[in-house]
Amino acid sequence: MLDRSTVERLRGADTAGHPVVSLYVGLGPDLDQRRAVPTRLKALTHPRREAAAEWGEEAVGEIRRDLDRAVAMADQITADLGRGAALFVCSAVGLEEHVSLPAPVRDRAVVDTSPYLGPLEAMLAHFRRYCAVVVDRRLASIYRFCMGALESWEVMAEEEVRKGNFGGFAGYAEHGASRRAGEVARRHFRRVAARLSELSRSGEFDLLALGGNPANVDGVAAELPPDLAAVLAGTFVVDPRTATAADIRRHCEALAEEYDRGVDEGLVTDLLDAAGSRRRGVLGLDRVLDAVNQHAVELLLLDAGDTVPGVACPACGWLARQGASCASCGAATRRVADLFDAAAEGVRAAGGTVRYVLAATELRHFEAGATVRFAVAGIET
Ligand SMILES: [Zn+2]
Repeated sequence: MLDRSTVERLRGADTAGHPVVSLYVGLGPDLDQRRAVPTRLKALTHPRREAAAEWGEEAVGEIRRDLDRAVAMADQITADLGRGAALFVCSAVGLEEHVSLPAPVRDRAVVDTSPYLGPLEAMLAHFRRYCAVVVDRRLASIYRFCMGALESWEVMAEEEVRKGNFGGFAGYAEHGASRRAGEVARRHFRRVAARLSELSRSGEFDLLALGGNPANVDGVAAELPPDLAAVLAGTFVVDPRTATAADIRRHCEALAEEYDRGVDEGLVTDLLDAAGSRRRGVLGLDRVLDAVNQHAVELLLLDAGDTVPGVACPACGWLARQGASCASCGAATRRVADLFDAAAEGVRAAGGTVRYVLAATELRHFEAGATVRFAVAGIET
């Protein structure tokens, strides 16, 4: 499973200059997509196999063997219960790792002297901690949901209300039974909302998800204070009496994906607006490279169909499509397997933010875009 320590370990892997095969495969709930994994792996690795000669005679055999090894891991990937899988293979140093991913990824194969970790970094940076509540009129089951994993947090029962601060319960006997039940439910919803406020104030979660029968979900939603209503990411319909933890997990996963899609669309709309005024945004790899080289990027959005090789300056970080020496400081450049990923690294190093856009948006035409802190030179066309 993806976590910070896995990424750090992979980053620190000593490959002694040997090429590493990194492979990303998206796994939707669609079974056909999973069945197609062996074919997709072959199609993904084929161009890398053809391009292996660039690495010199000695490395060609290693790369092709590692690509074959990755293709042979198809069964393992098909069985992966996550929404994507990442593979890292460098048999020369005994590296062979399969990381299950909690969110979708674009299919991708990269050969470089270090593992290609950009999509994992972006995933870690953007994962939100959810508080998921499944509510009925007498119970509320509270869960934590993060990175595709669901765990029970606490259960609140209406009975406690009766025993505790709802001592006047007997007085309601004079009212109609259904009205009394409605009052009890409302008290329960209010108490659930108050507890969620406590958890939210102590910084225990970022976003809220409410599930249950629609009337009860609406009942709790109506009691949420404004700050909590603002972090309500979505709701789902589930029967609390029959829903298993696996059902709830699936609902949360779908809800989180839907929420992320909305965020992606909003960010791309904002970027296009910013780019329209020219001084606040840039679109396309070349303009993004200008912005990265000038440390101007605030937020980099990536939706590249394929990797683009290029060069980087080891001394000052300058990125370009080609050139033996750095245009900024004159040092000898080194080859990078993917300029999009190199740009992402540069942005992170300069304190900016990177997001991989998975939703189908207009960004797909441009492949990359960035909002910038100041007007970038070299973009007036
Ligand atoms: Zn340089």
